[in-house]
Formats: sequence, structure tokens, C-alpha cells
Amino acid sequence: MPGGNPYPVGLRLHGRRVVVVGGGTVATRRVPALLDAGADVLLVAPELTPALHAHVDAGRLRWERRRFTPADLDGAWLVQVAVDDPAAAAAVSAAAAERRVFCVRADDRNAATAWTPAVTRHGPVTVAVLGGGDPRRAMGVRDAVRDLLAGRPGPSAARPAAPEPSAVAPGGRVALVGAGPGDPELITVKGWRLLTGADVVVADRLVPGLLLDELRADVELVDASKIPYGPARAQEEINRILVDRALAGRFVVRLKGGDPYVFGRGGEELLACAAAGVPVTVVPGVTSAVAVPAAAGIPVTHRAVAHEFTVVSGHVAPDSPASLVRWEALAALRGTLVVLMGLKNLAAIAGTLVAHGRPAATPVAVVQEGTTDGQRVLRSTLEAVAADVVAAGLRPPATVVIGDVVDALAP
Ligand code: SAH
Repeated sequence: MPGGNPYPVGLRLHGRRVVVVGGGTVATRRVPALLDAGADVLLVAPELTPALHAHVDAGRLRWERRRFTPADLDGAWLVQVAVDDPAAAAAVSAAAAERRVFCVRADDRNAATAWTPAVTRHGPVTVAVLGGGDPRRAMGVRDAVRDLLAGRPGPSAARPAAPEPSAVAPGGRVALVGAGPGDPELITVKGWRLLTGADVVVADRLVPGLLLDELRADVELVDASKIPYGPARAQEEINRILVDRALAGRFVVRLKGGDPYVFGRGGEELLACAAAGVPVTVVPGVTSAVAVPAAAGIPVTHRAVAHEFTVVSGHVAPDSPASLVRWEALAALRGTLVVLMGLKNLAAIAGTLVAHGRPAATPVAVVQEGTTDGQRVLRSTLEAVAADVVAAGLRPPATVVIGDVVDALAP
């Protein structure tokens, strides 16, 4: 190979500064693996995708909102160039070479001093493949190794034959896939198989970033992040993207946090596709409503404790005319109540439940970023939980579990 064979190493980036230059889709795909490695990520870019914004908001990395300057590399161990402009990328390369910092370039592999391999992770094992200059070969080998490790059939069956309505170009279809609650290993086998066969992936903010890290390089990644009260791409726009790409003959995976039909607007997407004659497959996901309590050691039902669990959205305040939830009726139940999207209205929700008869001392747990490395669990009571959440500084995404099951397995 010109320039010699690459020398593989496993960089131990924990606590070490890595600079990412650029705030677009390449950075969106690279940052999760850097964070997973524990790197101290400095992102330098005038603008960010919503998914990168979410990392900044959650305090997972530092963002300098401007263009790159060479001094950004002071103290860095590695730099990832994720900008399109060749001159800007070359300037980063030059600054990196001067400081003897390895430089990964998305735009020009020949100008890079380090290459990122195609990666698959299996428990403690990380397999990294370099394809001798051919990223597709690397992906192919990686996929084969991944299937071998998982003991799964290969992805050749990734596109089950579907009847093709005339308006849809051959191969065009959509899969609504549940990505699970946060741990990238909690996607289903079927969801994973379809994801790795996708031409286009439309992903939510709550989707585990590491799943996107393993996609083929030529996959079109659309960031459909809908940050509450922040910059949002309207649902109609997402529907339009799904339909347009499928009509053009592409296999689109709409990857959604948890389960697609649990407060995920999956139904609307299905209807939009159906109206356009686009075939749709729905792959259920592990919903946070059940998995997040479990990750905190709380079973949603338990023998002799709770024979029911009710999942409710808290995104509309109980006293709002827009509320579709009969909170006073829920207050009369004695089983488990799981509230999603409930942090903002937690004081009103807890107050309403107590006012209508649920005991003030009912145990409550609030689980932030369940099933991920960032998981935080707060235990409280119905009367104290709203203040405790504020005092602890808990943030969305968080799941609230109300009921005696909260203590069922507690020592
Ligand atoms: N379809 C998703 C839910 C979408 S609503 C599912 O089935 O899981 C989004 C809400 O889900 C968040 O506001 C939060 O209440 C909950 N949620 C999602 N992921 C979570 C996580 N990792 N930890 C805690 N709560 C989570």
C-alpha cells in the first residue's frame, strides 16, 4: 500500500482531549464513540445539528461556537476533521501536524494521519477493520464478523421482498424501527438487521448514538431530532422525507427511541407512508416505560404488590384543556403508574394524584437516561418528588415510576 500499511492501535481516550472540528452529520456520527471512550471532547463549529446540541445541553462535551483556530489543538491527543471545505480541513491538518497530533479526515483519507476503522462491539470485545483504502470492504468484513459474533444469519435477508405498488420505485420501502431505551444493545435482532441494510436512516434524538456509528459510510443519515421547545423539524417534514426517499426506490429505516408506537408518532408516519402507497414494516422496540424502571431495579409488576401498570404521558399539564388523561381516575388506582415526558409537569401531576386520593407517602422513583452510562436514579415520595427532582437537577429524558413496586426489590 502506498505510504505503508496502517499500524493498528486502540486509543485509550478516557479523560483525554479530542477535538472535533465541524458540527454536521459526520461529527454527529463520530462523537458518540468518542464519548463512549470517555474522551474529553471539544467541539469547534459555528453551528451544530440538534443531536450534537443535545450532547452539549447534557454537559457531555464542550462546544466552541466559532471556526477553528490552531490553538484549539493545544493539549489535544487526537483531532477529527468533520468539515466539507477542503481549505478549512487542510488548515486543521497543518496545525495537527505541527503539534504531532493525529488527524482523522472525513473529507480526504490520503491527507489524514489516522484512519477510523469500521467497528463492531460485542461486550468487552471491539473489532476494528481497515479495508486497505476501501471503506466498503472494511464494512463488509466488519458486518461478517459482527454476524459471526452475534451468532446471527448475515444481512443478506435485510430486504424481505414486499409487493411493490406502481408509484414506488423497486426496493423502495420504509421500516419503523424501535431502537430501545438507550443502551445500544437493546435494539431487537430484526431492528438491527434492517438498520444495517438501510440506504437512508432517519433518527431521533433519543436514539443511541453508537447504533449510528456502525452504519455504512454511504448511508444517508437524516437527523430528525425534535428537541422539546427547541428547533424542531415538523412531523410533516419527516413524513415527507420518508415518503420521498422510498418512492425513489430507497430502503428507509425510521429509527425511533424505545418503541415506535409508544408516544413516538409512529402511527402518523405509518399513515403517511400508506397514503403514498409505500410499503411499511413496523419493528417493535423495548420501551423505556418498562425497561427504564427495570434498569433502576424496579419491576413494573410484582407478585402481591402490583397487578397492573399504567403508562401515561405527562407532557400536557393535568389542568390543561388539551389533556386527554383522567388523572383523578388514575389517582384511584393502586397499581404502578409510569409517567413519560413528565418532568416539566411533575409538581402538578403529583399534586393532582394526591388531591384525588393517592397517598402522599407513595414511593416514587425518577430515572434519568436509564440503561445508559449516564443513568441517574432518584427515590422519593409523591409529596416530595417534585422538589427533590429540582434539587437534584434531574433533566429529560426521565421516566417517573409511582407505586409500591419502587420498593419491591429495594434491600
Ligand atoms: N417511544 C419511546 C418514548 C418516547 S417519549 C419509548 O417507547 O421508550 C420520550 C420519553 O420517554 C422521555 O421524555 C422519557 O420520559 C422517556 N425515555 C425515553 N428514553 C429514556 C431513558 N433512556 N431514560 C429515561 N426515560 C426515557
